[in-house]
Amino acid sequence: MPKVIWSEAIQPLIKKYKGRNHPLEYENIYQFLVLVVLSAQSNDKLINSVAPALFKAFPTMESLSRADAETLYSYISKVIGFRKKGEWLISIAQQVKEDGNIPLTMKGLTALPGIGRKSANVIMREAGVPAEGVIVDLHVLRVAARLGITSSDDPKVVEQDLMKKINPADWGEAGMAISFLGRDTCRPTDPHHAECVMNTVCQYYAKLKGKKIKPVKKQPAGSKKKK
Ligand code: SF4
Repeated sequence: MPKVIWSEAIQPLIKKYKGRNHPLEYENIYQFLVLVVLSAQSNDKLINSVAPALFKAFPTMESLSRADAETLYSYISKVIGFRKKGEWLISIAQQVKEDGNIPLTMKGLTALPGIGRKSANVIMREAGVPAEGVIVDLHVLRVAARLGITSSDDPKVVEQDLMKKINPADWGEAGMAISFLGRDTCRPTDPHHAECVMNTVCQYYAKLKGKKIKPVKKQPAGSKKKK
């Protein structure tokens, strides 16, 4: 397969998903940050289901900073790891104090408890600030390896590979677009290659096609098959 220029090859995928709403339903960056912290190792549907009552009780960072832990837990008790996540949220709120103080930089966000590079990249993309990295969630880990952008399964290395091969101006959209492709099309067990916008550059699909169309060598007439 010829060498792929990923900064160009990724463009149809970015175009396909540009502007698509994040599956977490939120009204402002305060809400989004809270939902991102809660969503680690959980599914977005469950997190969306707890959001309305949670934000009715704690509509701002300031109200969350004054939360009593047990009261907060009662709103998020269906979420995996809710005690630890609740502690993180109260600590974040006490540090940040107001919605307008949420730090929208990689350094500022990752200094907060419960927020790593992936979460920071997601929050910065939704906030519309320039990306400082590429979102690498479980979908991106799987799809980037299948595409052939990386050969690693270490999120830090995968992010570095993506940052090297994609233009900085596209970092924010590219990560989310790869994640959406993983959710919609490049599923773990039944990837829909035929309808995938990346199927002309995808290493995994190229290998699969190679296997399918590999000609079967004909046995010369009169030769015996090996047993
Ligand atoms: S062509 Fe198939 S394996 Fe490759 S990214 Fe698309 S769905 Fe995934």
